Order: sequence, then structure tokens, then C-alpha cells
Amino acid sequence: MKESLPPVPSLLAVCAHPDDESFGLGGILGAFADAGTRCSVLCFTSGEASTLGADGGDLAEIRPRELAEAAEVLGVSAVELLDHPDGGLAEQPLEDLTAHAVRVAAEVGSRMFLVFDEGGITGHPDHLRATEAALAAADAIGGRVLAWAIPDRVARALNAEFGATFVGRSEEEVDVAIRVDRARQRRAMECHGSQALNTPVPWRRLELTGEVEWLRYLRR
Ligand SMILES: [Zn+2]
Repeated sequence: MKESLPPVPSLLAVCAHPDDESFGLGGILGAFADAGTRCSVLCFTSGEASTLGADGGDLAEIRPRELAEAAEVLGVSAVELLDHPDGGLAEQPLEDLTAHAVRVAAEVGSRMFLVFDEGGITGHPDHLRATEAALAAADAIGGRVLAWAIPDRVARALNAEFGATFVGRSEEEVDVAIRVDRARQRRAMECHGSQALNTPVPWRRLELTGEVEWLRYLRR
């Protein structure tokens, strides 16, 4: 029997790119918001290096706007967007990233971090780094970390269909399983027009995953 969401007053999602909060964490953030948790997002980059949607204008300007709109759909009350280099997060000093996570957690009164699983879900080095920073921040303040994980079978299917590098988990490895509102998540994803309309992958992932999201505690 899996656990349900922990009742926390405030939660801070720590992400690498605008759209991670929706494509990845959207179902979970919506569920926390519905449960009365104050949800905030810290995003380390503006997503300016994306290969998608660049013909529509300057991504460094477009993507923060998209993030703000998506946050509203998900019931996220605060967004802090930093301008570390998209694609270069792994080269940023960990203590700098960690200090930002500690600061924002204090500002929003959260001791619970929400992150991508340790494999980065897609395997993107920026995702791995964002999770690493949240873990270090949690250790610094005695906080907890919940990580969004995808099922092995979904990762395998996506890797076969798209030649991708998704990293999944077996059911025994996850602590929490919750039903989420995919319609709301899809509305948030649609706010990221420069990205969402230019790739089938996140949509296919939702289709394969179904209505239930998995989470693992990286710090209890
Ligand atoms: Zn990302």
C-alpha cells in the first residue's frame, strides 16, 4: 500500500527549466495545491537553449511568461526564476544553487522540496543538478525531499519510441502513489506554447503513465 501526499503547509518545487513544473510536476503540484498546500516554484534557468520554438522569438523572454501562466493554472502562488545558463547548470557551483534553494525555501516558509527523480527523469544534466541542489538545501535546513518518478515501463516505451534516455523506477522503489488531475496539467502544459506544441514526447508520457503519479522520498 502506497502512501498519499504528506500534509505540508508549504512546498517548494526546484526545477531546471520553465515547463519542468508543468510537463513533469504539473499533476503533483495541482494535487498539493488542491490539498491546501502553498506551492512555490524555483526555476534555475530561463530555458533559453531549447531547440524547440526558437523561431517564435527570444526564448529567454517567451519562456518566463509561459511559466507564469502555467503557474497560475496549477495553483502555484510564487515563482522565482533565475538566469543560470540553460544546458550549463552542472557547471554552476553547487553552493550557489543550494544557497538560492535555501533562501527561497525560507521566503515561502517551506521545509519540503519537490524535485525530479535522481536520474533526472529524461537524463538531462540540468535536471540532475537541480535535484542535487535541493538535496543539499534540505540537508542544510533539516528539510524533506520528495522526488517525482516515472514507471520503468513508461521509460522503456519512451526510449524505444523516441530514442530518448528516460530513467524509470520499479513499483517497489516508490513511496507515494496519487491520482492526479491530468486535464489541469494539460492546460498548464498548453501555456508553454513554444515547447509543448513542438514535441510529442510529454504528451505521450502522460498517455503511457495514466492517471497515477509516483513519488519517492529522497529525504524523509
Ligand atoms: Zn527540463
